[in-house]
Amino acid sequence: MPEQYIAGRWTEPAGDARLEVLNPFDASVLAESAQASPDEIEAAVRAAREAFDTGPWPRTPAAERGALLRRVADLLVRDKEEIARVETLDTGKTLVESRIDVDDVTAVFRYYADLADKDAGRIVDTGQAHVRSRVVHEPLGVCVLITPWNYPLLQLSWKVAPALAAGNTMVIKPTEVTPLTSFMLVRLLEEAGVPAGVVNILLGDGRTVGAPLTEHPAVDMVSFTGGLATGQAIIRASAGTIKRVAVELGGKNPNIVFADSDFETVVDNALTAVFLHAGQVCSAGARLIVQEPMYDDLVAEIGRRAARIRLGNGLDEGTESGPLVSAAQRAKIEDFVASAHAEGARLVAGGHRPDEPELQKGYFYRPTVFADVHRGMRVVREETFGPILTVERFTTEQEAIALGNDTEYGLSGAVWTADIGRAERVAGALRHGTVWINDFGPYVPMAEWGGFKRSGNGRELGPTGLAEYQETKHVWHNTTPAPVRWFTA
Ligand code: NAD
Repeated sequence: MPEQYIAGRWTEPAGDARLEVLNPFDASVLAESAQASPDEIEAAVRAAREAFDTGPWPRTPAAERGALLRRVADLLVRDKEEIARVETLDTGKTLVESRIDVDDVTAVFRYYADLADKDAGRIVDTGQAHVRSRVVHEPLGVCVLITPWNYPLLQLSWKVAPALAAGNTMVIKPTEVTPLTSFMLVRLLEEAGVPAGVVNILLGDGRTVGAPLTEHPAVDMVSFTGGLATGQAIIRASAGTIKRVAVELGGKNPNIVFADSDFETVVDNALTAVFLHAGQVCSAGARLIVQEPMYDDLVAEIGRRAARIRLGNGLDEGTESGPLVSAAQRAKIEDFVASAHAEGARLVAGGHRPDEPELQKGYFYRPTVFADVHRGMRVVREETFGPILTVERFTTEQEAIALGNDTEYGLSGAVWTADIGRAERVAGALRHGTVWINDFGPYVPMAEWGGFKRSGNGRELGPTGLAEYQETKHVWHNTTPAPVRWFTA
């Protein structure tokens, strides 16, 4: 099991609670360990506090911070294959996906390396000749970074890279389900020369380690990616000390198809949108919303293609989709399927575990398609976070927009149409943080990512992703001070 990193030292966790990390392909134990003790949690926060209050990092020239991030990117390139292999073992995703993740993480470090020294603040014209007024951005302080299990390394990079670029110190609480590559990243940060105490990482679950960190009075900010209920708990926990909290939560993302779209392209993209990484993607296109003339043909073809998706070991060449991450996650999916049956949805594909003998040990579930669903059904309302696609039908543009917005979430959505005017109207009307037109899924480090409504309250990536980790200060400099003579006695 990876050791913890506190104040520049690697140590074995000393807490009582134990943790097992499993390979979801065959349920074998990849690692086991104790979890961080209350004393270690305290030590990590203290180390980050001291590194912020008196250490060199927040006072290091921004260009030097950027140079360090660039070294991390180079190390990621060097270790790409090994990191990708471990990510696949830990999450079950295919090696192809894990390699893309490492490339994306590298790009994120390079982006914030470049951005680190570009923020010069702003000069304000006060209209008073004797005043020099400027607005500057400063590092925020001690940040607690908490990540989910589906994209453990990628989600961590969206936090660590801007937090470091801005000059903060941090305590990382990675997911306890798939934590291995997070520790590999911290080893690379150490190798790249991050000063002791700037980055600390603890091992443990949400209750034992996450919750105490979110309540800690010496922590200035919590950046969290994960489920809605946990996000709500973290916002409540932070209230006592008025921390800044940024939460990236779930999604129930509409994929809207107008009948003038190219049939083959839409079928192909709709499958990838929802079944990539066995549907365990916050932006999964789990709600396919199809215009009437195309509906029946599209449902039939998607069902046929979904039934042919090759499940297997993520390390094997021909595998198109791996298992779910855990027994608990599969049980949740089976519960959703039972509820869809009970509520009258029409099963088109899947709806069961695979039959192949070699897949029996792992947490596999067949890609599943339900048609003729409606908004009242649980499987349409709630985030399933697994390989379930539901298909709804619509006739008019207004109906499509209403369906696309009829969710408490607002993370992402897509519209497919050959009519560019309609594409722009629908994209403008959708209340989601990312909208794709004739595409589904791509993102770049230069553009912000985050949710409307209950999908979150902050933004990661882009310049806003850096601002999340900065304080804003107005400096007013009176160059010719003189008595104001307000009080005359
Ligand atoms: P989760 O909420 O169960 O756990 C996320 C993290 O929070 C873990 O590290 C966990 O240990 C920690 N945690 C749990 N309880 C805590 C508490 N009380 N205090 C502090 N930390 C606590 O989420 P998950 O199951 O790991 O991930 C799946 C969820 O993440 C899905 O809802 C998915 O949509 C969401 N997600 C969102 C994005 C996005 O960009 N919006 C990206 C990836 C995943």
